Amino acid sequence: MSGSAAPKVYGWCPGALRPMMSGDGLVVRIRAPLGRLSTTQAEGVAELAQTFGNGLLDISARANLQLRGIREDSFEDLIAGLRPLGLVDIDAAAEARRNILLAPFWQEDDDTHAIASALSAALTAATGLTLPGKFGFAIDCGAAPVLQDCAADIRIERGPAGLILRADGATTGKAVTRESAAAEALALARWFLDQGGAPEGRGRMHRLIARRGPPPSHGALALQRPFAATPGHTPAGTLAALEFGQMPAATLAELATHGEIRVTPWRMLLIEGARDLPPLPGLILDATDPRLQVTACTGAPGCLQALSATRDLARDLAPQLPEGTRLHVSGCAKGCACPGPSPVTLTATGADEFSLIRNGTAADQPLITNLSADRLRAAPELLTEGS
Ligand code: SF4
Repeated sequence: MSGSAAPKVYGWCPGALRPMMSGDGLVVRIRAPLGRLSTTQAEGVAELAQTFGNGLLDISARANLQLRGIREDSFEDLIAGLRPLGLVDIDAAAEARRNILLAPFWQEDDDTHAIASALSAALTAATGLTLPGKFGFAIDCGAAPVLQDCAADIRIERGPAGLILRADGATTGKAVTRESAAAEALALARWFLDQGGAPEGRGRMHRLIARRGPPPSHGALALQRPFAATPGHTPAGTLAALEFGQMPAATLAELATHGEIRVTPWRMLLIEGARDLPPLPGLILDATDPRLQVTACTGAPGCLQALSATRDLARDLAPQLPEGTRLHVSGCAKGCACPGPSPVTLTATGADEFSLIRNGTAADQPLITNLSADRLRAAPELLTEGS
């Protein structure tokens, strides 16, 4: 841990009905049903973001769309605008339970689509089920898994011999069918609670599995497949990356004229059926763009906990990075934009003061401290020297 004060850990994610205060106003996060926005929904969200917020939209690592800079006195009007678009749950508890990530390449009525629909309905109805704030489900039933690097507690994915339900952290799962998967996922969530996975309301499945292993019925082998998304054409449409996972609302409105939109966990949008997209502010369409090698959180002034600005520095350093080297610039030791280790991390420890960490997280022991942004810009070789 670097020398700065420990960042505050909230233990929950913002929602539409449970917004979170940030440095630039309220953050309101929308869990679009099945991760998809129709043209009407996307245009409506863009308009609401401009009317009630600062006009900036983020994509979260759980494929949710986040409106930023919402004024407190506009919050109720924003929700009233989102409701007729079908983007608000019945209450905050249902919204929190319906924490489902699905592989964005699904086709209508395939296993991913059918299971995610059934699980969404089951979670909405499961009023007695109180899971930790960040507890989530990943539905990943395409030919090969694409979500194994994305955080989730319960996974439904395709194994070598068919669909399996897998507790995060386990290498084996339970064979399920399209019809049984949603009910089995809820049963596994209840098992997690019964086994003491969430003392004091917090906890993650992989920690419980590390302590006591998966249930005895989970003997079916899983496929282990790394997956890296890149901008470009896919059979389902075109993947467009967003610089730092953020775009102006006008970009979303323009994209909506090219097709319905799926939100992905890779800070990219999938535009259904689109072939060619115009260059738009915030969009990265070229798979070789150096900005794809950098990750940076909101930083100052948008985040209350940030000790320094992050994104201008990350943008300036991106073209200087050796090909394939990933850089994470974090406004504090919490490391929101990249919770896992990164080859190179710069963690802000004060106003215009950064620590350099190699092969670690934003909170790990630094190799060099007290680096200013200008020094890093003047000597970018510091990032990788001697590595
Ligand atoms: S990592 Fe960035 S976004 Fe997260 S709390 Fe720290 S400054 Fe804020």
